[in-house]
Amino acid sequence: LVERMREFGETIFAEMSALAVRTGAINLGQGFPDGSGPEAVLDTAVEAIRTGANQYPPGPGLPELREAVAAQRLARYGLAYDPATEVFVTVGATEGIAASVLALAEPGDEVIVFEPYYDSYAAVIALAGAVRRPVTLRPVEGRFTFDADDLRAAVGPRTKAILVNSPHNPAGTVFTRAELETIAGVCREHDLVAITDEVYEYLTFDDAEHIPLATLDGMRERTVSVSSVGKSFSVTGWKTGWVTAPAPYVRAVQTVKQFLTYAVSAPYQQATAYGLTHELAWVEELRKSLQAKRDRLITGLEAAGFATYRPQGTYFVQADIRPLGFTDGMELARALPEKAGVVAIPTQVFYDHAEAGAHFVRFAFCKKDEVIDEAVERLARLR
Ligand code: PMP
Ligand code: GLN
Repeated sequence: LVERMREFGETIFAEMSALAVRTGAINLGQGFPDGSGPEAVLDTAVEAIRTGANQYPPGPGLPELREAVAAQRLARYGLAYDPATEVFVTVGATEGIAASVLALAEPGDEVIVFEPYYDSYAAVIALAGAVRRPVTLRPVEGRFTFDADDLRAAVGPRTKAILVNSPHNPAGTVFTRAELETIAGVCREHDLVAITDEVYEYLTFDDAEHIPLATLDGMRERTVSVSSVGKSFSVTGWKTGWVTAPAPYVRAVQTVKQFLTYAVSAPYQQATAYGLTHELAWVEELRKSLQAKRDRLITGLEAAGFATYRPQGTYFVQADIRPLGFTDGMELARALPEKAGVVAIPTQVFYDHAEAGAHFVRFAFCKKDEVIDEAVERLARLR
């Protein structure tokens, strides 16, 4: 293995899902729903295969999906992108983010990330030969946020880009307009590119609103926005995503993407276009049901003795393990299947400053109510 990848072993999701399978524990680790997306969307994928969408689609994506993405960004956020030159399709958001970092960061450039960060960010920054600069999100009055001075201090002469994930996995934060203004200000002042990960764009709770960074003053021209179908339509296995950005960025990112995978699975592109165009009411119902599941899981975790942070979006709750007498989330996560028959993700793996997250574990609530209930009943045995 090349040296720059040596710090990356098996991903925590692979390790913990394998542990769940091996022990038969309830898997509240890796974030995937235990239900499937809207019938009409599933049918569209099946129909697409039956009617011959089985050869290479165009490299940048099917025109119908690029048009559907452009229409969605316009209708929901007022952001206009030309489907022919400013939208393209990727193998999930993961490839969109990877291709963006590989296309935009030179070896030795620095990329700012908010820690805890989604694990693929660190790996693709390393693949690019670039250097990650973490800015730590810390709990303030029950919500994870950053200190504007920490962000400003992270910028140096080699800083090229900032990766912004909102709604944020695993912290559950939906950045406010004020927080986004702070980020935008730093980008404008230092001429940085923003790469946004918006995969949870529809999964926001209470009065939290997802605001794309590209909608802020002076940001559309310097933002590469990434999203995907998986979370919005409960089809995480479809791995179909998209990038929207000004044409020169799209050309750059597309240049890399074409040699990673060339194109993206045709039937899922057709089904995704259908979903974005016809099934957003279904997504709104999903959002409401996830909010109720969030509250259900939190009530159970608190009863079991954890201290929890109520997320404003995503699939995940952060739980502080110290009230139960534990201090090391990694140790607890590895022992949890045996102790309680449940799998969770130790949040510390998403930090460079592991001590900042050592006492958190992440639980997913994108599960059937009876699964959540059974899990928290088991976790109550930890006391
Ligand atoms: N970004 C974040 C923050 C995620 O939680 C995930 C996991 N689904 C991804 C990206 C990956 O998305 P995709 O499956 O579309 O590649
Ligand atoms: N995004 C999901 C999570 O955070 C799973 C991603 C993966 O398996 N790589 O749990």
